[in-house]
Amino acid sequence: MAFDIEMIKEVYAQIPSRIAAARKVVGKPLTLTEKILYAHLTEGAASQAFKRGTSYVDFQPDRVAMQDATAQMALLQFMQAGRSQVAVPSTVHCDHLIQAEIGADQDLSKAKDKNKEVYDFLASVSNKYGIGFWKPGAGIIHQVVLENYAFPGGMMIGTDSHTPNAGGLGMIAIGVGGADACDVMAGLPWELKFPKLIGVKLTGKMSGWTSAKDVILKVAGILTVKGGTGAIVEYFGEGARSLSATGKGTICNMGAEIGATTSIFGYDEKSAAYLSGTGRSDIAALANGIAEHLTGDTEVYANPEQYFDQVIEINLSELEPHVNGPFTPDLAWPISKFAAAVRENGWPAKLDVGLIGSCTNSSYEDISRAASLAQQAVDKKLVAKSEYTITPGSEQVRFTVARDGFLDTFDKMGGVVLANACGPCIGQWARHGAEKQEKNSIITSFNRNFAKRADGNPNTHAFVASPEIVTALAIAGDLTFNPLTDTLTNSEGVQVRLEEPRGLELPTKGFAVEDAGYQAPAQDGSKVQVLVSPTSDRLQLLDSFAAWEGMDLKGLKLLIKAKGKCTTDHISMAGPWLKYRGHLDNISNNMLIGAVNAFNDATNSVKNQLSGGYGEVPATQRAYKAAGIGSIVVGDENYGEGSSREHAAMEPRFLGVRAILVKSFARIHETNLKKQGMLALTFANPSDYDLIQENDVIDINGLTTFAPGKSLEVVFHHADGTSHTVVANHTYNEGQIEWFKAGSALNLIKAAKA
Ligand code: SF4
Repeated sequence: MAFDIEMIKEVYAQIPSRIAAARKVVGKPLTLTEKILYAHLTEGAASQAFKRGTSYVDFQPDRVAMQDATAQMALLQFMQAGRSQVAVPSTVHCDHLIQAEIGADQDLSKAKDKNKEVYDFLASVSNKYGIGFWKPGAGIIHQVVLENYAFPGGMMIGTDSHTPNAGGLGMIAIGVGGADACDVMAGLPWELKFPKLIGVKLTGKMSGWTSAKDVILKVAGILTVKGGTGAIVEYFGEGARSLSATGKGTICNMGAEIGATTSIFGYDEKSAAYLSGTGRSDIAALANGIAEHLTGDTEVYANPEQYFDQVIEINLSELEPHVNGPFTPDLAWPISKFAAAVRENGWPAKLDVGLIGSCTNSSYEDISRAASLAQQAVDKKLVAKSEYTITPGSEQVRFTVARDGFLDTFDKMGGVVLANACGPCIGQWARHGAEKQEKNSIITSFNRNFAKRADGNPNTHAFVASPEIVTALAIAGDLTFNPLTDTLTNSEGVQVRLEEPRGLELPTKGFAVEDAGYQAPAQDGSKVQVLVSPTSDRLQLLDSFAAWEGMDLKGLKLLIKAKGKCTTDHISMAGPWLKYRGHLDNISNNMLIGAVNAFNDATNSVKNQLSGGYGEVPATQRAYKAAGIGSIVVGDENYGEGSSREHAAMEPRFLGVRAILVKSFARIHETNLKKQGMLALTFANPSDYDLIQENDVIDINGLTTFAPGKSLEVVFHHADGTSHTVVANHTYNEGQIEWFKAGSALNLIKAAKA
């Protein structure tokens, strides 16, 4: 049903020759990461060696995966591309919009009702364009992908930051924004800065309470939340080969927390076992045929310092279980030091809730090991002191662990099974009492623990650990409990000890499922109608942006001169605005409301040059739009850093802003602006920023001869009759200038198709 063996055969047919060509170009032994990257270069790029960390390179990914919150805008844009089918196999997964409150069944049925129009849209648009659709309740994107689509040596992009989970099966899998997904689905290449490489050598073998999660908890402590930026992390060594494929997936998944582009393990016996266990022995057979290409070269792993930019070594035999947090995933504590840290820092020792599961940690191995502790609690007459929830990652895992009795075991311990969805991991948790904002502690087997992420309460101290440690601490109800050394008092007053968890990597009776929740698309979608109600406040079909009028831009108003940090959150806030991710007009009401106005140091308060008064940024811009007047936004350094969400570029474009002129851009946002047909310009002299006054009227000259490397001229006419002319640089290449002229990259794709 789900995987595409013919596509994988094609990829595997090319891998050996492409890697051989890369060897000639690079002239030295290759890491696994380099092999897969070179195997996915576009034709034109394949004959060059790239400088790590600086060269921008075009790749051709094999797959696209989208979660429901981000898929909406990606697919609304794709509908504009004029294609009848997606160019690469693609899937949509309904996982982010299900709120956890009571339990799986009630929560799922409530979500289906509340999000009906979004689900109907996603189902119909998938059906029309040949996209696989995973219904609400089918599971979380990354677990479903690992079970069905990930394959060694492949390359995938996904509209979610934990897409790297598929690296556990040897795939280069990278999180991107919806505009990138749209381009790849339309058949265009995908650009990435050739990454730096971090090697993590795993020696020894884990045992007892330690699990794969502890590897990434330890790595996060070493590299911190920024240490992986711009890098791909490649794991290797005998320790790596001893980890289950799902354990490897956990490590790659949480690699997003160190800012890594992605993480990856090589193909080995564990990968083959998982592929076979999930009904894909034909892929395992194909991978066995090219196994030498699906791992790094022997010389690389023998002398990693010569081939990676940084090398870390971890001995799994000595690795302790870790607990990371609170409020950041890189504050790493070995369990032996954690109790003292809790006491010294005054963190609430009483544990209110333990939550296991999520896309990070809900494999059969995870659930079976956690259940072995729950069973001990029942057998030893221990009553769990904390609330305890289980979020299965997929219906296939849920069905199988239910069949094998683990969910009954959790039930006896007082656990509540939530829907196969993100739930508390993304703040979709109607946690009763959270609004009181009381100081409290929770521990999860998820990946992120920033303030407010789970329940919206800034005083919730969230810690991250393996499912085994979460379960043990939930039984104890106490963060200072160390299950490796401490005892607990049972209901009969007897001191008892929890023995080491035990579990199985794969179910002995195999995986089973009655309805996995997959809906295949129509063979011919030409007659399928995409369902979007014209009165919806959550979804809105996009209209093409207007093409450039062919002349210089005169008489623009200054909308805002933003001061200091202006991230994509400042430009297009998340939180309650998530609801409008599929409705450009409605979400545009958050445009730049977090940016600080340099003239009054206020947020969301700018001068309306038409009325002379002050107004909210979106309302002021709508007034300019209604009057047929364009505007510009001026910004500071690294404008648009943060997420890759394209809304931050689409909103100003939609509301009639013509140019963003800043001291410097975050690269992804700059590209997003170009794709939407905006002018993304930088001050040739950054101090010119200071010349701009609140009532300025602006001209942009030089557009009729717009060319790569040729600066534009921007004239600021001040209210006192004087003016300043400044030089504005840009990084548009020939193709990107065509995007500007056409009104957007999508308009150009559409025109090329017509
Ligand atoms: S479970 Fe959490 S980390 Fe995983 S996809 Fe959902 S929100 Fe993201």
